[in-house]
Amino acid sequence: LKLAVLAVAVAVTAYVWRDTFDPESVRGARVLVTGASMGIGEQMAYHYARLGAELIITARSENTLKDVVQRCVELGAQKALYVAADMSIPTEPERVLKESVELLGGLDYLILNHIGNSPYGLWDGDTEYVRRLMQINFVSYVQMAATALPILERSSGAIVVVSSLLGKMTTPFAAPYASTKFALGGFFGTLQHELAMQGSNVSVTITVLGLIDTASAMDKIRGYTDVTPYPASEAALHIIKAGATRQTESYFPWFHWFTCFFRDWFPYFRDMCIRRSFTIPSN
Ligand code: NDP
Repeated sequence: LKLAVLAVAVAVTAYVWRDTFDPESVRGARVLVTGASMGIGEQMAYHYARLGAELIITARSENTLKDVVQRCVELGAQKALYVAADMSIPTEPERVLKESVELLGGLDYLILNHIGNSPYGLWDGDTEYVRRLMQINFVSYVQMAATALPILERSSGAIVVVSSLLGKMTTPFAAPYASTKFALGGFFGTLQHELAMQGSNVSVTITVLGLIDTASAMDKIRGYTDVTPYPASEAALHIIKAGATRQTESYFPWFHWFTCFFRDWFPYFRDMCIRRSFTIPSN
């Protein structure tokens, strides 16, 4: 019986997650991608460019943004521009959003992806750092969404929040980061209900990613775990498709849906597996 239930669950999941993405739906779309100077955000910029979107990218490092913009133009973006900003400064999220809307003449997709530098390791008691990371990884997302909502309402647009398995379940060594990702789930999950209940035509997608092979992530986890990472370019395309098809929640790699589904069934074994997957480095 358990096998039959599992088979039905797999079949339903495969049906729900069948690829309904139409690349044409993104051609000419006005897109703002945050944290796009490297990693998954940079890969999203390149995919959007290939799909013929009009693109604004943002991050702090202007030189790197210029290079990414140049590549986006080569790949076929209808428009590619950047707005440099530091999301730890509370006034910047609103400025970036407003400038982007002016440059694009509106907005169809707001892709919230940036994260502040998060050292990996045992929590060292630094509460000020938690506050700072909350501003970058969480409050700035809320600020941009708040400014974007009336504009997205006019275009039947979408907000896409890039989150993590660490916003669904905890593992060691990333307490401040996990806190910001859990906060995103709380805020944007609530927003999904409220928008739906008000008949809004803005969709909010929360994407839940497992370990992805970006340089910053690989640097952090070295010596702590040998969990297999997945390619940033594939993660980026997955996020774009999830936003374009207006999914509420989306998992990459797909099996993390099951990870979250079974999360609370066997807590003792879950915690045992998690703790055995990580080690505290000796130095
Ligand atoms: P990266 O560290 O590679 O990139 C982070 C981006 O954010 C960069 O463009 C960086 O550019 C920008 N950034 C950093 N600090 C600030 C700041 N203060 N203000 C504005 N921009 C800033 O991240 P990933 O590509 O690895 O992750 C992207 C998303 O995917 C994140 O939301 C992350 O939580 C999520 N994710 C990633 C996983 C992974 O294993 N990689 C796993 C699960 C989720 P700059 O330094 O120039 O500002």
